[in-house]
Amino acid sequence: MNFIQTRGCEKNKEQTVTFSQAILSPIASFGGLYVPESLPQLGEDFLNKHLNSSYKKLASDILSKFEIDIEQSVIDEALSLYEKFDDPDNPVPVVKLKENLYVSELYHGPTRAFKDMALQPFGKVLSSVAQKREENYLILAATSGDTGPAALETFKNQKNIQVVCMYPAKGTSDVQRLQMVTEDAKNLKVIGIKGNFDDAQAALKNLLASESFKNALKDKNISLSAANSVNFGRIIFQIVYHIHNYLELVRQDGISMGEKVYLNVPSGNFGNVLGGFYAQNMGLPVEKLVISSNQNNILTRLIQTGIYDIREGDLKLTTSPAMDILKSSNVERILYALYGADRTRELMQDLDSKNIYTLSSYELVKLQEVFIADYCSDDEGKAYIKAAFEDGYLMDPHTATCFKTYETKCNPAIKSIIYSTAEWTKFSPVIADALTGEVDAKDSVALESIAKEANVEIPAIIKGLFDKKIVHDWVIEKEDIEKEILKFL
Ligand SMILES: *Cc1c(COP(=O)(O)O)cnc(C)c1O
Repeated sequence: MNFIQTRGCEKNKEQTVTFSQAILSPIASFGGLYVPESLPQLGEDFLNKHLNSSYKKLASDILSKFEIDIEQSVIDEALSLYEKFDDPDNPVPVVKLKENLYVSELYHGPTRAFKDMALQPFGKVLSSVAQKREENYLILAATSGDTGPAALETFKNQKNIQVVCMYPAKGTSDVQRLQMVTEDAKNLKVIGIKGNFDDAQAALKNLLASESFKNALKDKNISLSAANSVNFGRIIFQIVYHIHNYLELVRQDGISMGEKVYLNVPSGNFGNVLGGFYAQNMGLPVEKLVISSNQNNILTRLIQTGIYDIREGDLKLTTSPAMDILKSSNVERILYALYGADRTRELMQDLDSKNIYTLSSYELVKLQEVFIADYCSDDEGKAYIKAAFEDGYLMDPHTATCFKTYETKCNPAIKSIIYSTAEWTKFSPVIADALTGEVDAKDSVALESIAKEANVEIPAIIKGLFDKKIVHDWVIEKEDIEKEILKFL
């Protein structure tokens, strides 16, 4: 299958590209993104046939329906990385909380957040494509705390790939920072940027615009790629677990085949829920895709009013930082699917030039046929964490936002799957605060107090971080970043 472009095609460019091309250079004509030409259809037969398949077998059969230009042996090797998850036979446990309410736990991989679901296999695929072409790629990542660790973990020691990861020195939890600065491999470089996530992103943007940087890369024969969720190579792996979750509910006698369910996703860059949108369009019975946001409620406002408005530009720092976002990249792929390329180009040009776009009332109706949304404040989130804990379930602040939407927007007679995107260990100070009222505890202290309160073990990978050697101890001004990276390359 080939890939087409959300904003249409520039005159001198190819109309369509292969999957390999789309993942190596993920930015398409007019600054758009790549999407599959069409979506394969699964049908109830497919779902019935896979009722008893392993996760790996299900993933492999879904991927083969996309007919991508990646050898089966590479796909097999990539999917075998799910064997590194806590339970190799069940990498994505689905837990029943109460009648009609389930949680899909996407965080059982090596870096304890949902980013591993896609980045683990994607790292293998990207590196093999680069090796096969005998080309060298640089992945530049600015992270608020979950993408960075997952990208470093997947690309460490992979051939033909180098990774530079920039994190805000004052913006991540201790655990997230330690996951990055202790990651030791020749092809990885981790740099703390003085400031917050905006500063890290600004540093990345400056770098991408710098002529001297581009020329230096050219001299060294290195091309740029990207590992964030604009890359379809990540999205394809994020279709699988939505289908797995559905089958899991059938297996657990929660639903009969064909019954519709809510998929309730804590959303930031919209990559996770985009996988659900594609799964639905491939035939998965979905009642609504439920978007849960924090106080940066840009997505909720879009879905409720049809207006995407970032003119104020006021990003708030919340206790669910992976969803602190104004420009949510993958919304563009939804615009394309619902309104086509010409309209998507128009809307995205409005956003770039005026920081706002407005859907017509007809377009809004189409959006609302698919999505419902609400947002959750930090205090509400804390209360949900505490309430769930009292009912016996420990969860992180991103997952907590889904409980608000569940209460305000979902019909409780219809079954809901809430997506849990991070383990409690990654955001322990917030959770300790919610459970015991301990304010601003260090991660090392908060982890211990939650472990005691909840009678759970701190996983060895997290505990071990505090004794690991710090190999990347640079924290620099964003102006010095180019020099530092060129030294590394
Ligand atoms: C990345 C992330 C999200 C947001 O996912 P998107 O695909 O960007 O919408 C939510 N929660 C956690 C913990 C994350 O790491």
